[in-house]
Amino acid sequence: MEDLLKLLRLCSCDAASIPRSKYMLEKAFEHFVDKSEYHHYCGFCSSYIGKSMSKDSELKCQICSSTQTVRQSLELGNFFIYIPLKDQLKALLENEPITNDYTEQTRDGITDISDGKLYKYLKSVSNSFFSLSFNCDGVPVFQSSKFSIWPLLCSVNEVPPEGRDKNVILCALWFGSSKPLMASFLKPFVEECKSLGQTGLQWQDPVEHTVKTAKVYALCSICDAVARPLLQNFKQFNGEYGCVYCLHTGVQVRKGNGTVRVYPCLEEMPDLRDHDTTVKIGEIAKSNKRTVLGIKGQSPIVDLPNFDLINGMVPDYMHFQSLYGEDQMTYNMHALLHLAKSVENLGALWAQSAFMFESYNGYLLKQVKSSNAVSQQLCKELHGLGHYHTSLRPAYLMMSHLK
Ligand SMILES: [Zn+2]
Ligand SMILES: [Zn+2]
Repeated sequence: MEDLLKLLRLCSCDAASIPRSKYMLEKAFEHFVDKSEYHHYCGFCSSYIGKSMSKDSELKCQICSSTQTVRQSLELGNFFIYIPLKDQLKALLENEPITNDYTEQTRDGITDISDGKLYKYLKSVSNSFFSLSFNCDGVPVFQSSKFSIWPLLCSVNEVPPEGRDKNVILCALWFGSSKPLMASFLKPFVEECKSLGQTGLQWQDPVEHTVKTAKVYALCSICDAVARPLLQNFKQFNGEYGCVYCLHTGVQVRKGNGTVRVYPCLEEMPDLRDHDTTVKIGEIAKSNKRTVLGIKGQSPIVDLPNFDLINGMVPDYMHFQSLYGEDQMTYNMHALLHLAKSVENLGALWAQSAFMFESYNGYLLKQVKSSNAVSQQLCKELHGLGHYHTSLRPAYLMMSHLK
């Protein structure tokens, strides 16, 4: 009984501290990056509302009409943080000159993202650009509670390999006890990418002392099997048509007391999914409000310029059994069949790997030393970093959240 009470106390204490600490996080962030923005979502339906204005202004949800003030939203934790890419990329380019020498080099075989088909396509449509890989996975903060952080991280593919993991950019941060509604969380990112793809980015070249302009495109999404279907608005691998690359229906088989979906090898490889068809089906699924070929509706990232919703998604080859257990192996074995095509599209596996993002997340997580005021601890550390882009050491390849 006493243990049970202790447990309840722990749970409720944790729950009570979350909104308060989220507010504290917001306060502390004011000092950390004056460019960071607070974006609010509806407390009832999680729809995106908008950026912070004055504390007393009213935020009204366009979908369900419920209202809250900015102050209430901050106290309840119905917001996430966005740190515009533009300022961070500018800071990066003005401190460390990045030329296109690296991506222009002729290399034998496929050694990096710039050797893949999708990068070559960007080269054919734009003569001056930078490209991003981005990652958005949930990172559980405690084993005992559902509270997790969802950092949206970006890396710049034009930075040579030895410096790439040291320049991971924290672009947005969601925190809470539930998964983010991606359409809300990714909205500022998608909007900013649209602007960076149209008007581009301007910065002062530190060597030539001239103002330069380049377009910026999100090219490659590196997410795990939990986050990826949220970004695509697909069913998970355990649902019918759960493969994100092809139209294999999967087969439901009994396992223990439940069932599991397996993807047996077929004599003929099922048709592959492609971007254009996926967008069309997404619209149909959205207007009919039903899932079509595993697609639940339009993807929240469909408007990213030049982003391929299918081939721009890296197969989750890293996690396999260690993270998801045997049940998911059945899909992962199938996903291996799509790995070769992914290398063709996005280049060498090392460059599409989530390691550098996981080390960044592991690093964030390491700053959490106790269960009190998680967000405060986190932002104290972020404050300590002092720069938009960080200088993480590879020593953080500990992946402490994978325990
Ligand atoms: Zn609402
Ligand atoms: Zn498949």
